[in-house]
Parts: sequence; C-alpha cells; structure tokens
Amino acid sequence: MPSSNSGFQHLSQAALSRSRFLRLAAGALLPFMGLRMSAAAAPNPDLAQNSGAPGTKDTAAQGRMGAILVSQFGPVKIHSYLSPADGFHVNTQMIEGPTAVVIFDGQLLLPYAGEVASYVQTLGKPVDRIILSHAHTDHWSGLQVLTERFPDARVFALDGVANQLRARGSARLDSFRPIYGDRIATKVTIPTETITEGLQRIDGITYDFKRFDDAESDLQLAALLPEQKVLMAFDLVFSPNEHAFTLVDHFDHWVIILESLKALQGYDTITIGHDTPVHRSAIDSTMTYVKRAKAIHAASADAKTYSESLKAAFPDLQHAEWVDLSAKLLYAAPR
Ligand SMILES: [Zn+2]
Repeated sequence: MPSSNSGFQHLSQAALSRSRFLRLAAGALLPFMGLRMSAAAAPNPDLAQNSGAPGTKDTAAQGRMGAILVSQFGPVKIHSYLSPADGFHVNTQMIEGPTAVVIFDGQLLLPYAGEVASYVQTLGKPVDRIILSHAHTDHWSGLQVLTERFPDARVFALDGVANQLRARGSARLDSFRPIYGDRIATKVTIPTETITEGLQRIDGITYDFKRFDDAESDLQLAALLPEQKVLMAFDLVFSPNEHAFTLVDHFDHWVIILESLKALQGYDTITIGHDTPVHRSAIDSTMTYVKRAKAIHAASADAKTYSESLKAAFPDLQHAEWVDLSAKLLYAAPR
C-alpha cells in the first residue's frame, strides 16, 4: 500500500490556495479528498479510503481554530494540526498506528494545544509518547497542555534539548507573554527521555531519527518514515510560499543539511514545522532563501537593514512579520 504516490504530496503549497487554507483554518476536518487539489492531481485510492475511514471523523471540528489534515499510508495515518497564523502556523503531527498515537511537537499557544489534545482523544488510542523536534518556543510551549491531558505519555527530545529548555525556556516564555498573555505556557515542559538517532519501531511503524546541528536551530530532529516515504523535516524546510525563520547565522551549515536531505531518494512528501506538507522541491526553495539571507546578513549592519532587504528580496512570500522576529534575534547580542 505505501507508495510514493501516497498521501501528502497532493497537498503542495502551489495547490493550496490562500482562501482554501483560510477555510482549513476555520476548523473543518478535511481529509485530502476534501481538498480538491489541482486538476493535475490524480485520484488516489489511499485518500479515498481515508475519507471514510474510522477515526477520521471529528465531531468536535465545529468551531475549531486550527485545521486538521489527514493522510493514510496503509495502516498508518498522519494527522497534521495546523495552528492559525497567530500561532505561527505551527504543525503538530500525530502519527496513528495500529494501537497508539505518537505526537510530534506541542504548539505555541495553549488553546491550540488543547485542540490537538481534543482531536487526539477522538482517535480512541493512547498517546504512546510525545516527541519534541527542537527547542524553539513555538514548538514546545503547548506541551504543558499535552502533558496534562496525556499524563502517561513520556516526552522525548534529542540529547541537549532538555538542557536548552532548562537554560532558556523560562525567559522565552516571558518574552512571549506580553504578546499572548495567558495563551502562552506558564511553565516550561522539560523532556524526560532522550531520543536516539537511527532506526526505531514504535507501534509497528519504522522511524529513522536524525539529528542535525546548526541549521534553523542549534539542534533539530528530523524523522524519516521509510515505509511511508515521508520525511518529517520540521524547521529544516520551509514552505515555498512563506518566509523561513533565520534566527541564527548557521546559513552555510543549513544549506549543507538541505543538500543532504535532497540526496534522500524517494521522499517526495515532506511534513514541515510551519504550514502544510510540501513537495521535495521545497528543499530547493528553502536553500535559495537561506543563501540569499546569508548574503543579506553579510551586507547588513543592523536588524532593520537585514529585515527590509530580505523582505524586498522575497516580496511575494507570506509572513513578513516572521522576518522582523528573525532579524531581532539574529542581531541580538550573542546568547
Ligand atoms: Zn518553528
């Protein structure tokens, strides 16, 4: 059943119009069949099954602020929760296997994490574990809610992430609180388990976990699902329609990592940290962006110049406000 023609690839950014995304964000449960992709998108039997499969119905969809996308790869379903824009369009991926669910990332804002938790509960399977992809606040703040709602789920991250959160998590939350008030976490959720690199089977699903240093963040997990041919790239790859975050000056190494992802054969479907899954061509567009950002950084003496130049270089990309945030951190005193 799993094949390169399965699942997310039809949900390319090119195919997903902004109005359609906004409809998604309005809260409907839309398995891929419901998205009516471009005319070029071939009917996919996996998706047809998906539309009527048990567990994809969501009676709580009405009024949901985020959007849920579901794709089926044989016995495995990937449910992606996308937050509204004020939560940075962060994704929480829920990998549903035969007997359990594995959650990746926990949202920035508590209400959105609450929506994730409520949705997971409709699947009727226990949460085996929660895995944090990296130590940026938009991915872990909402773990507070997820760990409250799923107290038996252990929280995993790469070695080093827990220390980063211990050192800086509280200050990060404080920096967001003036903007988001009580929608941001009140406490730092520290991962308790270390995830090791390499192949692991969880609930019958094979994962190949990889650690990447010095890219969008200092320390980033990626996960391959070799049987489903899905690359979970998190914040290593960004949507071709949106600005990327450039918070630290690891531009050159980030490009090297992107080259290594590009060399992976057969992984045409990439789930990313922000916004809907993308085709592998997003690796190229992210590379183009990072290289341009590097050049602009080298030529810009301050955050304002960097931000204005990067926005001018990519006038069509969405979320220009992300560039301001990046510039502020990129030009801040060394941490
Ligand atoms: Zn992120």
